[in-house]
Amino acid sequence: MTQNNPSTCAASSRGLQFNSGCGSSFQTLDIGHDDYMALIEPDIAFWSLVRKDKLADSLEIGSSFMQELLEKRESFAEEINALRFGLKPSAVYFNPTDRCNLNCSYCYIPEDMRRDGTTMTAAQLEQALGVLKDYFKDVVPEGIKPQIIFHGAEPLVAKDAMFAGMDKYLNDFRFGVQTNGTLLDDEAVEFLTSRNIGIGLSLDSAEEHIANLTRFTWSDSGVYKKVLEAMDRLKGYPNYNVICTVTRDNMTSLTEIVEFFHEHEVPACMLNPVRCTREGARQVKPLDHELVPHFLKALDRSYELYEETGRKLTVANFANILVSIIAPTARRLMCDISPCGGGRCFFAVSASGDLFPCSEFVGVPEFNGGNLFTGNIDDALKTQAFNIVTERKVEDIDPCARCAIRHFCGSPCPAEAHEMNGGMDKPGAFCELYEEQTRYALRLIADGKHDAFLWEGWDDDTNTDIDITSI
Ligand code: SF4
Ligand code: SF4
Repeated sequence: MTQNNPSTCAASSRGLQFNSGCGSSFQTLDIGHDDYMALIEPDIAFWSLVRKDKLADSLEIGSSFMQELLEKRESFAEEINALRFGLKPSAVYFNPTDRCNLNCSYCYIPEDMRRDGTTMTAAQLEQALGVLKDYFKDVVPEGIKPQIIFHGAEPLVAKDAMFAGMDKYLNDFRFGVQTNGTLLDDEAVEFLTSRNIGIGLSLDSAEEHIANLTRFTWSDSGVYKKVLEAMDRLKGYPNYNVICTVTRDNMTSLTEIVEFFHEHEVPACMLNPVRCTREGARQVKPLDHELVPHFLKALDRSYELYEETGRKLTVANFANILVSIIAPTARRLMCDISPCGGGRCFFAVSASGDLFPCSEFVGVPEFNGGNLFTGNIDDALKTQAFNIVTERKVEDIDPCARCAIRHFCGSPCPAEAHEMNGGMDKPGAFCELYEEQTRYALRLIADGKHDAFLWEGWDDDTNTDIDITSI
């Protein structure tokens, strides 16, 4: 921790002044608003919007702003520290199979695994869930169900084993499934929706020829129509969302995809910039400054649609940044915090039972911390394979260490930093996109529009939660 805390500060300063001694270190941020700018104490993620013509007054010793900060400083520091260093795992990304029926161009799982990898039998899957149930008994507070998100590769390749496991442990876990949607037939949808299982689909464009550029089968056939059929089957189901992976190929049509999702009554979507862990993904990576205007225009459009119809389409990855500013502990996704959630709020299990800090690392031997069937989960979480991820902090990364918005961004993702930029002490792939999303979020707050961008009931429960498709 590097927080400058007057009560523990060795210097004689009483911390009564900004930006010197043991006082709070403030940074100003131009948010692109006519009337307001932001004052941020980055160490504790404390911020205030200040009228531009009152900025000097706010920084005077004894100002009401300073009084407020002095009163709240300790509780803010405790809150952010608890969030960053005090959480225990409460979710698992569970890959029941290494295999996938698709060969998407940007997939982070090595191709040989997806083509020829292992698939769990029903007995192995049941045994694995039993091990996880025992593990969580001592870790998760009573009354809270840990979450299992069946993830991929394509989990529905192991549908029978997965469904049997869900039925056996329905009272022990909250289940979700992240699927490419192509195997979601009537029977599968009936099974999942009747048990209120969270469902995440993937679709990259409203237009077939664009969607099929990145998501296709091993024989190069696009899967757009199949995913649309699944969306039709899920119409009206509240517990589902669609991920759009944003690449160079679809970034100019994000507004259209927001309109398309809204028209299809999708409750929530993610416009996730492609994770640049693998070379194939890096080849379709959009440049931040080219992506930003399209991304923000799509957010504008989601607001207009809400105003026109009264029905929200939450863009969940942006909503998470917005909520991390307003109420840090209400965030649902754990990529935009440092250290990220990988290996500390959740971990990933491969089809052979190997344990990784996050799905992004599945198949990379250096990040294998042990095996669920043959070892102990607690021991795996303490290995170097996990520590290298859980100990990656913005304070150790240049330029993040001096960035005003470092606790709204978190410098994701360690997998990208490692594979793309050459080390854990490097930033991830989309710094400028985070800068601009944060500015946009602060403008919304200045204009009182932020509620329209957040999921319903976001403030009902301010406990940290992990939602389906957190990555
Ligand atoms: S990645 Fe960029 S925006 Fe994020 S913390 Fe680092 S410097 Fe700040
Ligand atoms: S930032 Fe990367 S490694 Fe961390 S949780 Fe997100 S996807 Fe996983």
